[in-house]
Amino acid sequence: MKDYSRAVVLENYETGPEIQECPILPPTGRTILVEVEAATVCGTDVHISEGTFDQLARLPLIMGHEGTGKVVELGSKEIYDSQGARISEGDRLVWSHNWCGRCYGCAIAKQPTLCENTMGYGWGPFEGVLNGTFSEYAHIVEDSRVLKVPNGIDPALASSATCALRTVMHAFGRMNPIRFSDTVVILGAGPVGLYAAAASMKAGAYQTILIGAPASRLEITSTWDLSSRIDIDSTDPEDRIDEVLQLTNGKGADVVIECAGPPAAFTEGLNMLRKGGQMMVVGQAHGEKVPVDTTALKVRQTTIHTSLSADISHYYDALKFLESFAETLQLDRIVASPRYTLANARDALDAMKNGSEMKPVITPKEKA
Ligand SMILES: [Zn+2]
Ligand SMILES: [Zn+2]
Repeated sequence: MKDYSRAVVLENYETGPEIQECPILPPTGRTILVEVEAATVCGTDVHISEGTFDQLARLPLIMGHEGTGKVVELGSKEIYDSQGARISEGDRLVWSHNWCGRCYGCAIAKQPTLCENTMGYGWGPFEGVLNGTFSEYAHIVEDSRVLKVPNGIDPALASSATCALRTVMHAFGRMNPIRFSDTVVILGAGPVGLYAAAASMKAGAYQTILIGAPASRLEITSTWDLSSRIDIDSTDPEDRIDEVLQLTNGKGADVVIECAGPPAAFTEGLNMLRKGGQMMVVGQAHGEKVPVDTTALKVRQTTIHTSLSADISHYYDALKFLESFAETLQLDRIVASPRYTLANARDALDAMKNGSEMKPVITPKEKA
């Protein structure tokens, strides 16, 4: 066991993330120490590193909130995962942010994603506990929920389940159930959009339409049973709305799931929705105000849902989803990026930012 963990630390926004050697504190109580096997990079990490979320992130911080790790040391108490399985050295785990279980969000609203006392991995502050996944080793602190990763699931794919896929599972849980007659439009062809398209198909939607770019991402779904893939690089919003209307006998989509991010996606989604349809907003992340015709919303009886992050039940659903469909849908294509080392973490963040990789994967054990 080493005394130090190499980790990507963000101390200030001017110099950006840099590798540091951080002392490894022995785990106590129900804390778990894991060796990180794979850490996937997220748009959120780019925003954190650039200071977009400087009101929420607490510096210095160890970057990375997505990951899979192998247990190397356990605190003194017996520790069980959220299925009730005892955790031992060598187990491969995924873990959620920690929720206190006592605040209004946790205990009364029963929405742990709104916990008022949470510590998010990758959000800091780094005060001795290795609370980020861009690190050789990471601590899983006491109030985090953990799950063993089923055998046979690739660590990078399991890592993507700890953000994109569990987010989709939560979003589906907050919508009205998909009906077998539903036409579902997915806006966005990043990892969240692709997983949402897969989930819509497997939930039994009559038609699933995926709208996004670039073509190489739409191509990942080439063997899937989607009704239509629309490339936003070669179409205008009006073309896309027309195509949805054509595919729905002029009615519009029953369900739109926004996984795209920009303000315009929200408006475009509303314009594709049938009267009485439901829209799920899961991608929006820009801080701008979007004008909405609230009278039309009422007259059309539109339902708008939103969903943030996920709790451990959705991680569980995500792992089960991978067990069921990773092979047949070739979901490993979502994490098919070259593997980055910690030393190349900046390149991985750049690749995420400029879109050259959809889901960069950092393997911290590999040396530069
Ligand atoms: Zn993420
Ligand atoms: Zn709480």
